[in-house]
Amino acid sequence: MALSKRLRYEVLRRDRHTCRYCGAAAPDTTLSVDHVIPTALGGTDDPTNLVTACADCNNGKSASSPDAPIVADIAADALRWAAAMRRAADIAGRNRELLEQDRRLVDHEWNRWTSPHNAQPFARPDDWPLTVDQFCTIGLDVLDVINAVRDTMLRRGINDRWAYVCGTLWRELERRQQTARDLLTIEGDGTRAQPTAGVH
Ligand SMILES: [Zn+2]
Repeated sequence: MALSKRLRYEVLRRDRHTCRYCGAAAPDTTLSVDHVIPTALGGTDDPTNLVTACADCNNGKSASSPDAPIVADIAADALRWAAAMRRAADIAGRNRELLEQDRRLVDHEWNRWTSPHNAQPFARPDDWPLTVDQFCTIGLDVLDVINAVRDTMLRRGINDRWAYVCGTLWRELERRQQTARDLLTIEGDGTRAQPTAGVH
């Protein structure tokens, strides 16, 4: 996506209308504002990833090294940003894998139990995987879900088994939230009891 005129102007002004690589200035050369880390590689339109460059430097024709100290600060920020974006993508990918694994485990437990009427697994809503994702994201883990499924299946006279599982999990979640609140209260008292604590 093209940079806005305003952003270009701000970067040009920051760089004093000179090429940050070789120092060339208008009207001797044509200046442009370019990405240090290309957007295709995760670079952003943030000013820390933008640099004023002359046509020669931009095309790689200049003898000046892009590692020149004058751009080191900009490049370092951009590289840190690119590295952080890669890590964020890794974490997102790993979380997705874990959630899919959780879904498979819950599915396996659910399908172990069959209705006496038709010897098929019990019906459940189509969006059950999303519900598993939610519970496993907001404070419970897959073992809680599996245990809730098992407990529900061992009970008699339940029509909507999936709804019963969800009800069990909500109650468990509320219990844990209450425990967490209690812990915070206790820790808060502990902080206030310390004579060195000066922040209130
Ligand atoms: Zn230049």
